[in-house]
Amino acid sequence: MTCVAVISDPDRSIKMSFTSNMLYPRAAILDPRMTLTLPPHITAATGMDALTHAVEAYISLQKNPMSDAYSWQAIRIIRANLMNVVKNGGDREGRLALANASTMAGIAFSNAMVGVVHNLGHATGGVCHVAHGVAMNIYLPVGLEYDLPKAGEMIGELLMPLGGPDVYAHTPAEQRAVKVISLIREMRDELYEICKLPRTLKEANVDRAKLPDIAAAALKDGASMYNVEEIDYNDALALIEKAYE
Ligand SMILES: [Zn+2]
Repeated sequence: MTCVAVISDPDRSIKMSFTSNMLYPRAAILDPRMTLTLPPHITAATGMDALTHAVEAYISLQKNPMSDAYSWQAIRIIRANLMNVVKNGGDREGRLALANASTMAGIAFSNAMVGVVHNLGHATGGVCHVAHGVAMNIYLPVGLEYDLPKAGEMIGELLMPLGGPDVYAHTPAEQRAVKVISLIREMRDELYEICKLPRTLKEANVDRAKLPDIAAAALKDGASMYNVEEIDYNDALALIEKAYE
């Protein structure tokens, strides 16, 4: 459903992403039967990947009203369904809701692209073979904290689809972005309880000695081009160390 593909080159320990309009399908069929047997931790990891697509598209330099609309609904639907489906994999309505949300998040990021979370995630996948969705789960909060000074207002707007109208209304405007990040951390804690989805690089058994290699690989990944904040080697290494434990 997207214009992006990622190809792993294990010999060089890199993941290369590229985009082309030729990658779009003529049609996509969303059938929840296709994901009914997906185990809980992969359901959780792919759900957090879809959430990251929607969130990063919403704060990207290339965001636009079309991508915003898709991001918004994707976030709302993932928040409403992911925990239930991870706990009860046979929930067909929940599976279909997540398939719709994942598709909408894909449409959003095909328009707006992603950012630092995907940048670090591709590098971590290439160097340490951490699964993509797991890497997204690990980096999403630290990536948002990094973008907070420039994207605080946009992140704060996401409290409505992520927390619902009551939480949004009861949180003062200047605290909404921080609340969004804390709700994402709560989701990760809940997923860790249910299916041990790693929240840190340490929990994903990443060798600490590899962190500089991940930072070096991140510099060569194009996803950071669309991030509101620039990222150099030292920024990347600091973020990766923050995500370690
Ligand atoms: Zn992704």
